[in-house]
Amino acid sequence: MIRINDNFKALKPAYLFADIARRVNRFQKENPEADIIRLGIGDVTRSLPGACIKAFHRGVDDLGEEALFRGYGPENGYEFLREKIALNDFRNRGADIAADEIFVSDGSKCDTGNFQELFAGDTVVAIPDPVYPVYLDTNIMAGRGENIVFLEARADNGFIPSLPDRKVDLIYLCFPNNPTGATATFDQLKTWVDFAAAQKALILFDAAYEAFIRDPELPRSIYEIPGARQVAVEFRSFSKTAGFTGTRCAYTVVPKDCMARDGNGEAVSLHPLWIRRQSTKFNGVSYPVQRAAEAVYTDEGRTQVNERIDRYLSNARMVCNAMDELGLPYAGGNNSPYIWINGNGRDSWGFFDLLLRQAGIVCTPGVGFGPCGEGYIRISAFNSPENVETAMARIRQVLR
Ligand code: PLP
Repeated sequence: MIRINDNFKALKPAYLFADIARRVNRFQKENPEADIIRLGIGDVTRSLPGACIKAFHRGVDDLGEEALFRGYGPENGYEFLREKIALNDFRNRGADIAADEIFVSDGSKCDTGNFQELFAGDTVVAIPDPVYPVYLDTNIMAGRGENIVFLEARADNGFIPSLPDRKVDLIYLCFPNNPTGATATFDQLKTWVDFAAAQKALILFDAAYEAFIRDPELPRSIYEIPGARQVAVEFRSFSKTAGFTGTRCAYTVVPKDCMARDGNGEAVSLHPLWIRRQSTKFNGVSYPVQRAAEAVYTDEGRTQVNERIDRYLSNARMVCNAMDELGLPYAGGNNSPYIWINGNGRDSWGFFDLLLRQAGIVCTPGVGFGPCGEGYIRISAFNSPENVETAMARIRQVLR
């Protein structure tokens, strides 16, 4: 019989969302009349922006015409999209990124999961706790389970992990953060960039939620920090920005200055290595989807994207206002679609069950994102304003 990769046995079962579904189903069976409001999901709830839909249709029509037809596209994405990304998301914001440093993909989940393949098996990896599970699980699958240094994000450090006290090679950071909703200031990110430069480490910076940043003082990209081109790869996604969670489009920035070393100690640029990895294992995002993503950068697209983000941010504000009234400590909700709520002594699952059984609200137990999440729940702003308002009214009644 063929032998499995035993590293998979070191993974914790992915029980979180299954366990949530099981509890919700049981509650629904016992209470068929209950009107359940789901504030647990990280998926968008609104239809794609009209500008994207129009461009999507046009892209499909192009494929029906001999002269405009496209088959396999470039593995790193069409230039029409990469040029707009480099200009609008980076150069216009003072970050020096070129179109050929952008790699369009079908998701930040794949990219944040795959990037670690470029590094040696004994790479020491720093991963926040709590965390978006992909970073941790993909390193465990690669056999680095014993080489992980956890970076604790707690209320006493404002959910911005402190620097590790030992040498690490690879550092995962995510701001605005999933699940805590925390954002990092320029100085906080600079501390990490300087640390990575001093330690010759690499930062993998997940900015999937950057579109939620409205505070002009907060950096939206790690490349706004001087020196980041040498030490950071950044992941961005159209998923939460423009509702592409089902359509699939994202991109990764690999600056040509990012260096690593080979087994002989010779310097190696990561840029050609990532090209090699992607062109071997990935055949690009479909042409109509890239046309739809391009439309995000039109005036119409920008207005529509801002309007949908405004809507989610206003939902998040409703949640924060309710927590303020109830005196429950929380993080996030500002420049972020997630609110990370402390249960004032309740454990995560106890708080989850209370909200489900007494308010008909589904949230996500914080402990599912790592041990430091115990005692917290995550509430997501991805729902309609009406549902969030109703949910907060019910929560006020239950917890008052
Ligand atoms: N990164 C973070 C922090 C996320 O929370 C998510 C999705 O929930 C992703 C990446 C995945 O994004 P995508 O839809 O582009 O795969």
